[in-house]
Amino acid sequence: MNIFNLAHKGIQQIQPYAPGKPLEELQREYGITDAIKLASNENPLGSAPKALAALNDAVGSLNRYPDGAGFALKQKIAQKFGVEYGQICLGNGSNEILEFAVRTFVNADENVLFSEHSFAVYALASLAVNAQLNIVKALPKDHPSAPYGHDLPAMLAAINPKTRVIFVANPNNPTGSYLSQDALYDFLRQVPKNVIVVLDQAYYEFVDKPDFADAKMWIDEFDNVLVAYTFSKLYGLPGLRIGYSLSSAKLVNLFDRVRQPFNTNSLAQIAAIGALDDGEFVQQTLDNNQRNMQAIVDFCQDAGLAYLPSVGNFMCVDVSHQGGKATGKTGLDVYDALLYHGVIVRPVASYAMPDFIRVTIGTDDETARFLTALKAVLASCP
Ligand SMILES: *Cc1c(COP(=O)(O)O)cnc(C)c1O
Repeated sequence: MNIFNLAHKGIQQIQPYAPGKPLEELQREYGITDAIKLASNENPLGSAPKALAALNDAVGSLNRYPDGAGFALKQKIAQKFGVEYGQICLGNGSNEILEFAVRTFVNADENVLFSEHSFAVYALASLAVNAQLNIVKALPKDHPSAPYGHDLPAMLAAINPKTRVIFVANPNNPTGSYLSQDALYDFLRQVPKNVIVVLDQAYYEFVDKPDFADAKMWIDEFDNVLVAYTFSKLYGLPGLRIGYSLSSAKLVNLFDRVRQPFNTNSLAQIAAIGALDDGEFVQQTLDNNQRNMQAIVDFCQDAGLAYLPSVGNFMCVDVSHQGGKATGKTGLDVYDALLYHGVIVRPVASYAMPDFIRVTIGTDDETARFLTALKAVLASCP
């Protein structure tokens, strides 16, 4: 008896998530001591200091279970964002929120709809409940405003009677594309009311566009809309695993049946409350991101490299051509070559983007180091 065959079909199809290469692993394998990691869209400035300060008060109480309701954090979120307490659900990272949606609504022969080149977890979470994947073709690579972005009309057209959940990443990772307020509202109005729309806003705080809007404005209008948020990116707390969703209270009621009684830990709850008060850290993060994103854009333009315009804290650079000439290199080749320079980025072949690398926006020093290394790697192309 082969145990593998006992797993359901969806599990058998899963390719486990490949995280960004850890710094320690690179340093061990390559004998380097000063490597930098720009591979997981982490905050290069560290964690919000007010979050870390709050942690000190909590470590003495680890013998107690966390507050399963997450009362204090939910109250803080309700105040800060002007929503009702009952519209909030906490998750072990926003990743867990994405899982709640499929676990609550999708049966084995039903489907989950999302775009090509969108976040890997949508497929993982769906296969884990044995759902069918309804993957919609993205906008073309040469689209003027959102290359490889979500094609909302095509997504609407792909909805069928077995569609239960739609994932929309806004902005999307790894493309860095976003959807305008008007386009998204138009979409939400046309989605059948018996289909749950999960709007994944892991990077929304980084967006600086007049036609972008936080989708929380629609949770009162649409019972079937769920907006997912995280403390992992802007606030620099991915190690604690904490995120949340805003939606109709009816969805929260269902998720309260699905989630573990103590799904978010006490340190994470306390740190997240501190983070929400740290306006200074938020501003530093946004300033750093804008400055260094611009440095990479300028470099690409000077060097004749195509890139995907990004509103997040990362961007994708096409390393297959330079100045219109083939470099003979794939994203994976350049990723490998950069490792020798002590720079970890992300190859995105698994997102069907083999020509690209995705780089997280680092500090000034890290960005300079990345650009110097990328220049050297490209100069060595035949
Ligand atoms: C990083 C990321 C998340 C989730 O991160 P958590 O650490 O689980 O909160 C969700 N969606 C996208 C698109 C992401 O890139």
